[in-house]
Order: sequence, then C-alpha cells, then structure tokens
Amino acid sequence: MASLLGNLFILAAPSGAGKSSLIKALLEKHDDCPDYPLQVSVSHTTRKPRPGEVDGVHYHFVSREQFETLIEQGVFFEYAEVFGNYYGTSRVTIEQTLHRGIDVFLDIDWQGARQVKKILPDTCSIFILPPSIQTLRERLSKRGQDSDDVIESRMNEAVAEMSHFGEFDYVLINDDFSTALSELEALVCTQRLRTKKQALRNVDLLSQLVGNHN
Ligand code: GDP
Ligand code: ADP
Ligand code: 5GP
Repeated sequence: MASLLGNLFILAAPSGAGKSSLIKALLEKHDDCPDYPLQVSVSHTTRKPRPGEVDGVHYHFVSREQFETLIEQGVFFEYAEVFGNYYGTSRVTIEQTLHRGIDVFLDIDWQGARQVKKILPDTCSIFILPPSIQTLRERLSKRGQDSDDVIESRMNEAVAEMSHFGEFDYVLINDDFSTALSELEALVCTQRLRTKKQALRNVDLLSQLVGNHN
C-alpha cells in the first residue's frame, strides 16, 4: 500500500479507559471541518449488541459462523479473539478510506495492533491508560452497559491488556478528559505534518516552490 494519503491510528486500552469517548469527542469536535478528514473504522464482531448499539454504526454484528467465513475469504486486515468473541477490521474499507486521504482510527486490542503495525509500520499507535485501577472499575460500572460478570472479567483482563503498553508509540493517561482529548488532537496533528504526508498533500505547492524535487 504505497503512497497512502491518509494516516492510520490505532487506539488501544483496557476496556473502560475511554477509547470510544475520546474518538467520539474528537469526531464531534471536527464534524463540520473539511480540513480535518477523519473516520473511525467500524469493526465486525461476534459479541452481542449492547443496549443502544446499532448494527453498521458501532459494529457490524455477525455470527461466529459468518465471521469464520469472512476469515476464510481474507476479508480482514486484522482480527483477534477478545473476551471470547471475535473482532476484526475489514481490509477494503481501510484501504479505500486511506487512499481518499481520510485519516482512520482503529479501536482495537493489542493483538490487532501488532498485526497492523507489521503490515503498515507507519501506523501511529496510541495506548490509553486510566489514572488508576479503581477509576477503571468505576468507569466500567458507570457506563452501565455490561453485567457484573462481564465487568469482572474485563477487570481481570485489564492488567494483561495494559502490560502491552510498551509496544505502542504513545501513551495517554485519560484522567482529565479535555486534557486527554487535547493530547490526542496533538498526536493527530503531528502525524499529518510528517514530511512525507505533507509532500503527498502539497504536490502543486512544492513543485511551484522547489520544482520537481523527487
Ligand atoms: P456512547 O458512545 O453513547 O456509549 O457514549 P460513551 O460511553 O462514549 O460516553 C457516555 C457519556 O459520557 C456521553 O454522554 C459522554 O459525552 C459522557 N462522557 C464521556 N467522557 C466524559 C467525561 O470525562 N466527563 C463527563 N462528565 N462525561 C463524559
Ligand atoms: P472504552 O471505549 O475504552 O471501553 P468508554 O469510552 O466507553 O471506554 O468509557 C468508559 C466510561 O468512562 C464511559 O461511561 C465514559 O463516559 C467514562 N469516561 C471516559 N473518559 C473519562 C474521563 N476522563 N473522566 C471520567 N469519565 C470518563
Ligand atoms: P468492546 O466489546 O468493549 O466494544 O471491545 C472489546 C475489545 O475489543 C476492545 O479492546 C476493543 O479495542 C477490541 N476490538 C474492537 N474491535 C476490534 C477489531 O476490529 N479488531 C481487534 N483486534 N480488536 C477489536
């Protein structure tokens, strides 16, 4: 996948650290701004929808059999089993969106992050940590969308997930929400200003200024 105009971002974190809230806030803040093309990738999952979750918006909800067929068909850019369910990112959607110059956010686990980094080492990977274990538990309970059993198993998985933070390019601590959001925006900005992306986006300007420099 040479010459991708868009930037690919991975956000990973233990469940409840605030990935979805941060991505949602970032998208809403820049909703009507054509200079800030950004999308979140909608994964496929075999998990059951939570109350309020809409098929095709939050996830593409599929059965285990359907997911396994999609794996065989090579549909996924990456996939992993998390909390006993399959989750995966569709290849075509990501590639087409990046080619169109739109930045893409992947809300995926550390196993998926490893796979994506191998395929596209340029990907900016960000790990989000909660300010404490206690806060993580409170956020999972406050969200009110998972049963006590599910919350307990996600808490048990949290330490295992967090132990992978060192594999990521950046670490954000989501304590004060607006601070974390500003830090996330700063990372998006930094990726966009990388020389090779600027050169791709500003071909005409650069040829006026310095001629054909390749
Ligand atoms: P969902 O996408 O509807 O499930 O929403 P989220 O789980 O991302 O967030 C639930 C609610 O909490 C939304 O109304 C958010 O705006 C709100 N929220 C997210 N983060 C914060 C925060 O740091 N402080 C406060 N007060 N509200 C927040
Ligand atoms: P994730 O997508 O990582 O599982 P969510 O974005 O659903 O996590 O966040 C879990 C809960 O924590 C939500 O109810 C959200 O409103 C809340 N939350 C997220 N960030 C903060 C923060 N900085 N301060 C307080 N509550 C937060
Ligand atoms: P949830 O059930 O809370 O929506 O997500 C559970 C976990 O699965 C989170 O860690 C989330 O990042 C991860 N996840 C969601 N979609 C994908 C995906 O497409 N691929 C991978 N590898 N993980 C995903």
